[in-house]
Amino acid sequence: MGCNGGSLKLSMRAIALLVCFSLILAPRAQAWSKEGHIMTCRIAQALLKPHAAEVVHNLLPDYADGDLSSLCTWPDQIRHWYKYQWTSSLHFIDTPDKACTFDYSRDCHDSHGRKDMCVAGAIRNFTSQLSHYKEGSSDRRHNMTEALLFLSHFMGDLHQPLHVGFTSDEGGNTIQLRWFKHKSNLHHTAAAELFGKDMDLFQEDIQNNLTHGVWSDDMSSWEDCNDLLSCPNKYAVESISLACKWGYKGVSPGETLSDKYFSSRMPIVAKRIAQGGVRLAMILNRVFDGDFHEDIATPT
Ligand SMILES: [Zn+2]
Repeated sequence: MGCNGGSLKLSMRAIALLVCFSLILAPRAQAWSKEGHIMTCRIAQALLKPHAAEVVHNLLPDYADGDLSSLCTWPDQIRHWYKYQWTSSLHFIDTPDKACTFDYSRDCHDSHGRKDMCVAGAIRNFTSQLSHYKEGSSDRRHNMTEALLFLSHFMGDLHQPLHVGFTSDEGGNTIQLRWFKHKSNLHHTAAAELFGKDMDLFQEDIQNNLTHGVWSDDMSSWEDCNDLLSCPNKYAVESISLACKWGYKGVSPGETLSDKYFSSRMPIVAKRIAQGGVRLAMILNRVFDGDFHEDIATPT
């Protein structure tokens, strides 16, 4: 997986801003922060075909005002509620230390060994649920809404290097401690102040790169997927190899991470946000436009 840092056109302000909210080694719960999810969902919604756009609109509660991104962080907000505790292991995948590989049957389970309880399994499950949208009764509507929000959120999580990380450090959680103690407050405060103004700008940069920039030729390969239920495995493999190549590289426990660490990884973060959005749109277009027929009953 390359990094298009050299030719990626992001405004300097957006880069400075992103350095502030750098996500790569932030703790899992906050990593791929709120803004990353919002951008992934905005990119996806802009790429929906008319029918899928209409279905998404219908599934969203009225208060979302037709804006999928406004609810894309909902799964992070409810993961510790009693009713939703079962979802807490669905936000990530732990892979064997230093292996830098992902194997669904080996790695997709929670800490109790329950199968399919990882982010790749969750995406399979909610994609499969949404493919039954047409048969859903009004009673099912609520579940379909949740399935849409979970799928949209987990596509963001899956694309974040270190949501697919090593078991012993819990996806970079223990490694980053020091950075969080010494530097993160500063970074996060700056990000909070700037975000209101600049997230749109950053979004615009990503959109431009997709429509007539460095990523326009890549989009069709990002969307390429024969089997909707196994494509998440491919995205997980990308994430763990990026985590090994960039996320963990040159980082030792207790170290205070430099600004250079973050600035050098920003183009990767931007690209993963874009890929997550393009692929989420691809999945929603296919499940809601009816060209997806589930032929695998149980994930293996
Ligand atoms: Zn999450």
